[in-house]
Amino acid sequence: MIHYGRQSIGDEEIEAVSQVLKSDFLTQGPKVPEFESKISKAVDCVYSVAVNSGTSALHIACLALGLKAGDRLWTSPISFVASANCGLYCGAYVDFVDINESTNNLCSRALENKLKKAKVDKLLPDIVIPVHLAGFSCDMKKIYELSKEYGFKIIEDASHALGSEYLGSKVGSCKYSEITVFSFHPVKNITTAEGGVATTNSEELAELMNQYRTHGIVKDPKKIEKGIENPWYYEQVALGYNYRLSDIHAAIGVVQIEKLERFVKRRNDIAEFYRENLKGLPVSHPPIQKGYLSAYHLYLLRLDLNNSKLNQLELYNYCREKGVLLNLHYIPIYKQPWYKKKGYDILDFKNSEKYYKEALSLPIYPSLSKEEQKYVVEIIRKALL
Ligand SMILES: *Cc1c(COP(=O)(O)O)cnc(C)c1O
Repeated sequence: MIHYGRQSIGDEEIEAVSQVLKSDFLTQGPKVPEFESKISKAVDCVYSVAVNSGTSALHIACLALGLKAGDRLWTSPISFVASANCGLYCGAYVDFVDINESTNNLCSRALENKLKKAKVDKLLPDIVIPVHLAGFSCDMKKIYELSKEYGFKIIEDASHALGSEYLGSKVGSCKYSEITVFSFHPVKNITTAEGGVATTNSEELAELMNQYRTHGIVKDPKKIEKGIENPWYYEQVALGYNYRLSDIHAAIGVVQIEKLERFVKRRNDIAEFYRENLKGLPVSHPPIQKGYLSAYHLYLLRLDLNNSKLNQLELYNYCREKGVLLNLHYIPIYKQPWYKKKGYDILDFKNSEKYYKEALSLPIYPSLSKEEQKYVVEIIRKALL
């Protein structure tokens, strides 16, 4: 069975893990800061705070930006549930902004309209989380302008977009946001098994996130108000969590990040192959725009249901029978039972509803061989022609 994504692990990662296992530190050792500095360099930001998942990174990002009970967080409904759950962890209200029909990302025009209305109703959001779906950046310039006009903070959920670029800057450089978050789950662009990172250029936000990932504790004598009383002294100054990444996981990341450029190139080659070889079918392909480099975490097809002889489920079943496991990214979050009971109106999300009936992801990952790519193309063509 060919899956939609999988990790690429070599002997170097295995060697790096054994080195850590033989060393003095399994956690809180030197591998985490080493990994963090490599991330900062790769995405052009000043600070990186590594944690045990992308979800934890989203949570500490919200906490560092001061999100609290009764506040409001908006995100895209076409994302993994974690993009919204982080708001609920903080007691905030979560709402969604419909997607753009051609990019599948949170639509900046829909955002502007929703903000205008929210201003009148005095229900403006405190945080907006644009999600760079499949690795294609959101319209960050416009969203950033809106953040200045309406006074909200931005966390980019770039779980799909490590290695992506937007108008000459790396996603993660936080040119248009306070904080950017990445995930290192095995299907993502690089992996640490489980893991995530929050990047920022603000020293204050980096320090806060650092505290929140480790119980809200500070140990640095310079940061303890009265100064260190005893050598063992530390202070808990906020309610934090244990979201630390271990040195074992970080060691995998240190090796993986060196391969990022190669991985992104591979993913782009596969995307190009699909785009070329799936021409003339009743489908639309991922967006291409000048100034955007997608890391192609996913290759999202959308079925043209008026002209396709198969619907989404039929295509999915056909491919599965032939050994190709497609996937749907994602079920709109407001449709999840947990969210449904909060009473979202699907009429607000026309484009997301349409997307949900049309989208399917093709297999794409660095070790997907040419034979496998050809096989996927052959199966899809057979199914739809
Ligand atoms: C994977 C993912 C996350 C969560 O990352 P984890 O590391 O699995 O916690 C959040 N948002 C999006 C869009 C994701 O794809």
